[in-house]
Amino acid sequence: MTGEAGWVLLAHYHEVALKGRNRAVFEGALLSNLSRALQGTRAGRPQLLARRILVPLGPPETGLANPPAGTDLVLQRASRVFGLAWFAPALRVPADPEAISEAAVALARASPAASFAVRAKRAEPQFPLGGQALNERVGKDVKEATGKRVNLSSPELTIWVEALARTALVHSARLPGPGGLPVGVSGKVLALLSGGIDSPVAAWRMMRRGARVVLVHFHGEPYTDRSSRQQALDCARVLASWGLGGRLWLVPIGDLQREVVLAGPEGLRVVLYRRFMLRIAARLARTEGALALVTGDSLGQVASQTLENLAVVEEASDLPVFRPNIGRDKLEIVEEARVLGTLEISTRPVQDCCTLFVPRRPATRASLEEVKRVEARLEVDALVDKALAGAELVELASPEP
Ligand code: ATP
Ligand code: MG
Repeated sequence: MTGEAGWVLLAHYHEVALKGRNRAVFEGALLSNLSRALQGTRAGRPQLLARRILVPLGPPETGLANPPAGTDLVLQRASRVFGLAWFAPALRVPADPEAISEAAVALARASPAASFAVRAKRAEPQFPLGGQALNERVGKDVKEATGKRVNLSSPELTIWVEALARTALVHSARLPGPGGLPVGVSGKVLALLSGGIDSPVAAWRMMRRGARVVLVHFHGEPYTDRSSRQQALDCARVLASWGLGGRLWLVPIGDLQREVVLAGPEGLRVVLYRRFMLRIAARLARTEGALALVTGDSLGQVASQTLENLAVVEEASDLPVFRPNIGRDKLEIVEEARVLGTLEISTRPVQDCCTLFVPRRPATRASLEEVKRVEARLEVDALVDKALAGAELVELASPEP
């Protein structure tokens, strides 16, 4: 029997939100994203079988219970594929109760657990036994072969069985996926990435809803050093590992900031800087085919994030501005930055452009009229053009070659 068993990556997605034609689009994108994420690993081509995904990993190597070498890398890559609800390395065996028991016994033997439960499901009606009958049969076989206790309420080891018409999947190590929708199914947005804690999380949340996210970072060079550029680049690399690659625009705004300083009252500087950022970002969004901008703002977190200031800033953009963090507490955002993998990068001390010519007391309620009076003294379009003329583009590969 062992000769017919093979290891696969078994991956599931949530179906609740998928209706009609959406399902095919979702499944197609998920298969192609997963296949891309697994490039360079030992995994074969992902295929769809009865509303689940199977990716061949190879035959068992040292005994039935051990996944082939290289499986860890596959699991690590899969954990960053949006759209997956959960996944597991699984033994794929013929749709036959005896073969299922043999696999279950092998997994149980390999585990130090003293108690176990079998959770079997008949996922296609052609399989000869129902879920409960299969639970009982496989449970009895595992108990007899290993001497482990059955414990249905809090087992140390759970052995899951999915019985399909022509194949069965047996696994005991389920991992949570990141959920959401496959990157690409929701179109494209442009996210303003400061390198701080909040904006990478905002970009990531949009990715998780299926958006392809292009990034832009504004820096104050040559008035600042290159540390903020490096921080943004490192954050962008992490984001690219979730987004199947990406693009980062680096735009110099130091000169523009100097003009702002000369033109108006200190208290309005930050709001004016932000309005310029949105204008420049909106221009880049057009060339990228992105339909909205994304920022990391959270209501009331700092002076520039009062309702008044958010509204005055947003007025400068002719595209919708999304703020996935707007109603979230700092601690929640920090926790998500940890999960996403940018927290450590974002807490490095850097010289960012916002510390450049920063006012001692920023206005918490900028008035749009006053802001517009100051802008009337500036050559807004020319400043935007000049910043864009200095823009650099970095292409980010994922997986890293
Ligand atoms: P973050 O943690 O993302 O830096 P923050 O709490 O420091 O945000 P602000 O400095 O007010 O808040 O910035 C608000 C948002 O404006 C950021 O989340 C980001 O989207 C955008 N932003 C600010 N500075 C930059 C920058 N230098 N480059 C790109 N976007 C920026
Ligand atoms: Mg910041």
